[in-house]
Amino acid sequence: MLLKMNLQEAKEGKRISAKGFAVRDKNDTFKPFDFTRHAMGQNDVLIEILYAGICHSDIHSARSEWHPGIYPMVPGHEIAGRIVAAGDKVSKFKVGDYAGVGCMVNSCGQCRACKESMEQFCENGKLVFTYDCKDCFHNDEPTYGGYSNNIVVNEHFALKVPQDAPLEKVAPLLCAGITTYSPLKFSKVGKGMKVGIAGFGGLGVMALKYAKLFGAEVSIFARNRNKEQAAIELGASNLYTIDKLDSIKERFDFIISTIPTRYDPMRYVNLLRYGGDFAIVGLPPENATIKTDMTRLVFSPNRRVYGSLIGGIKETQEMLDFSLKHGIYPEIEMITPNDINLAYDNLTDGKAKFRYVVDMSKLEG
Ligand code: NDP
Ligand code: ZN
Repeated sequence: MLLKMNLQEAKEGKRISAKGFAVRDKNDTFKPFDFTRHAMGQNDVLIEILYAGICHSDIHSARSEWHPGIYPMVPGHEIAGRIVAAGDKVSKFKVGDYAGVGCMVNSCGQCRACKESMEQFCENGKLVFTYDCKDCFHNDEPTYGGYSNNIVVNEHFALKVPQDAPLEKVAPLLCAGITTYSPLKFSKVGKGMKVGIAGFGGLGVMALKYAKLFGAEVSIFARNRNKEQAAIELGASNLYTIDKLDSIKERFDFIISTIPTRYDPMRYVNLLRYGGDFAIVGLPPENATIKTDMTRLVFSPNRRVYGSLIGGIKETQEMLDFSLKHGIYPEIEMITPNDINLAYDNLTDGKAKFRYVVDMSKLEG
């Protein structure tokens, strides 16, 4: 019914009606929300959303933990679905194909970063995030994410997904997958290297799977031992609890922090060997960020500390193809849209396992 209406709207060049779940302010809970998306352009595809992963960034955003959010807000940037309409100039997709959308839906396409497919660093400031962002290509209207039944996106920002892929597991690759794959590649993690993963949730488990496949020996740093068995079963050698960090004797070539709460990064920098890399991807709330005295870095023997933001479209496609080829998928629990509020509570109270994926086909039920 809804789909039929969308197809008619697409054909007539009208705005696309959409249904989703939104919060109206930072203290709100998710409730059904009807809205419209911009009309399809010649390079746009209309995707029927089938699955949407819940990333901890969705929680930070919905609760205005980084900056004041744009409300009503429909989060969701781990999107997997099916192409239902394609603009005249679309060449990458045809109707019926599977597709994914991650954290970005547009950028200038002209600057050096965009030309090198590092769109997340668009130098003209025209990066458009999938939600909680003003879309400078569409009169600054707010973008709405994947907790909804459809999305209209420039084909460049849609990823190709083969027809035999397990779509519900593909969704979290679009953020959790690329955000961990990219720094592991950047730091050339490989055979025999010692890797540490701080924060063992949706991103952490992906980092473990990629690092193992690249041949590394992996340790987990966690708040408690709740997921120790899962960590060992998935190939980790050790799980250290964070109260013991300062007494750990081994040294690491690479540590990635996916921690979403207040912590002291230097405690991890100190665990690196000479020349090791510390990649930060976790984004604690603005009021929970610990400022580091640079002098502590000067006296830390040539260890490199860097931040990493998702990955470009080219690398995201590479990561998707690589993950599917090697059967690297997230650990997921399926939920319905009505369970999003509970999932948020669990993810903040330490009761979640790894990744919740919302079955968007249950939206109307
Ligand atoms: P999850 O909630 O799925 O996982 C976070 C994990 O960190 C949980 O296992 C949690 O433990 C653990 N944790 C929390 N506090 C600490 C602590 N102080 N020390 C050690 N472990 C801790 O979140 P995601 O994996 O989805 O996201 C993680 C972070 O990465 C978020 O801040 C998110 O915004 C950010 N992010 C950044 C991106 C980027 O491009 N840089 C992209 C995507 C996400 P427990 O199991 O006990 O709850
Ligand atoms: Zn994310």
